[in-house]
Amino acid sequence: MGNRASSHEFKIFPLCKGHRGLEPVSFPASLGLYTKIQWQGYNFEFDLNGCVQKISGEHPVWPYPEDWLARTQTDRWIYYSGRSYEDIFALTGLYYYPYTQGQENLLDQDRPFEQPHVRKALKAWERLMACLEKAVMEVSEKEAQAIKKILRMTPRALNLRALEFQRLLKATIPVLPPECHRVAYRVVPVVVAEGCTSNCRFCCIKTGTGLAPRPLDDISTQIKHIKNYYGPDLVNFNSVFLGQNDALSAGIDRVISAARMAWEYLEISRSCHPCPRLFLFSGAEALLSLDPVAISALNALPYSNVHINVGIESLDEAALKLLGKPLTAQTAWNCMEKALELNRMPGPLEISLNFVAGDSLPENHWDLLTRTLCKNTPGPYKGTVYISPLRGDIKEPKKLRQRILQLKARSSWPLFLYLIQGL
Ligand code: SF4
Repeated sequence: MGNRASSHEFKIFPLCKGHRGLEPVSFPASLGLYTKIQWQGYNFEFDLNGCVQKISGEHPVWPYPEDWLARTQTDRWIYYSGRSYEDIFALTGLYYYPYTQGQENLLDQDRPFEQPHVRKALKAWERLMACLEKAVMEVSEKEAQAIKKILRMTPRALNLRALEFQRLLKATIPVLPPECHRVAYRVVPVVVAEGCTSNCRFCCIKTGTGLAPRPLDDISTQIKHIKNYYGPDLVNFNSVFLGQNDALSAGIDRVISAARMAWEYLEISRSCHPCPRLFLFSGAEALLSLDPVAISALNALPYSNVHINVGIESLDEAALKLLGKPLTAQTAWNCMEKALELNRMPGPLEISLNFVAGDSLPENHWDLLTRTLCKNTPGPYKGTVYISPLRGDIKEPKKLRQRILQLKARSSWPLFLYLIQGL
C-alpha cells in the first residue's frame, strides 16, 4: 500500500506488481513492475527508471476510463481506445485500438490527441512533477527513492534519453513486425543490419540505403550498452527485435549469434514476463534460402517463439510492378509455399506474411489473394497474414475494414490488419 503525503494529496505505490505476460488482454491491464501515483483523478505509471509510461484516469478529468495513454521507448505517445471494442479485436488482434501521436489513422476519423482530456492529462503529468518536488521530503524513504527517479525524468530528459537510445543503436527503428503487438511492443532492439535489400518504391518506412550488416563485435558492444541503458527496467522486457527492416538477409549465422548474445547478455530468462519471443523481418529471397540446417538452428534458439515477418505484398505481377517491389509473382508464390511448409513444422519458428491493400491496385490483386487464402485446404498450424493499407491510397477506410473482415472470415490463415508501429 502507498501512503498519503498529507499536504499534496497524492498516493504513491512504489514497485507495484502488475499483470504477468504481455499478450493482449481484454481489460486495461498494468504490466510488470512499476510505480503508480494517483493524483487529481489521474493514474500515472512509471517504469523502474522513473520514466512515465502510462496515464489514465477517472471521471470527470478523464471521460473514458477504459482508455489510456502510453509512452513509447522513443518518447512518443500512443492513445489506446477501448471504444468499438468488438470488431477491433477481429481486425487487429488487439482489444484496444492504438492511435499514434502525429501518425495518420487509417481506420476512422478520431483524433484523440486533439481532444482536451488528452492535452490536459499530458499537462497534468508536468504539474505532478512540480508537486512531487515539494513532497519529496515528506514521504517514506522507499517513496522518496521512487520520486527522485521520477523527478530526474523530466520531459526534456526523456527526450534526450530517446536520442541516446538512437545513438547507442546507431540507427532508428522505423517499423516493428506486426506480431510485436503480442508483447505490447515491449521489445529490446538489436540492429544486426541497417536498411533492406529491396527498397520498394511504395514503402514509407524504408531507410533508403542498401543492406549494411553489422560485424558481430559491433552487435555485442551494442547489446552491452543497451543493457546499461535499460538498467533495472530490463526485467519488464522478455523479447528481442533484430533490426532493422531485413535482418535475415544479413545471414543466418549473424542472426543466430545475435539472438543468442541478446538472450545471454540481456538475461531474458530473468524477465518478469513469461514466453520470450524473438522478432525479425526477412526479404523473400532470404526466407527461400533457409535450408534444413538453418531451420534447425532457428528452432533451437531458447525463445518460445521465433517470428519472421516477410513482406511479399502481392501475388499479382501487375500489382508488384505498380508497387515497385523487386519481386516476381513466381517468387512471391514460392515464398508463400515456403511459409506454409515452415508453419506446418513443429518448433518455435513461425512465419507471417504481409500483403498490401490499396484503391489503385488492380482488382486481380485482391481476387488472387482471396482465392489463395480461401482454398479449401488445411491452413498453417502457425503464422499469420497481415494486410497493410497503402498510405494515401484508401478513400473509404470503412469499406476496407469490411473487406478485410470478410476475407478473414473465410481465410485458412489467421488474418489481421497490420498496424504500422515503429519503436
Ligand atoms: S522490403 Fe519492406 S522495408 Fe524494405 S523497402 Fe520493401 S516494404 Fe520497405
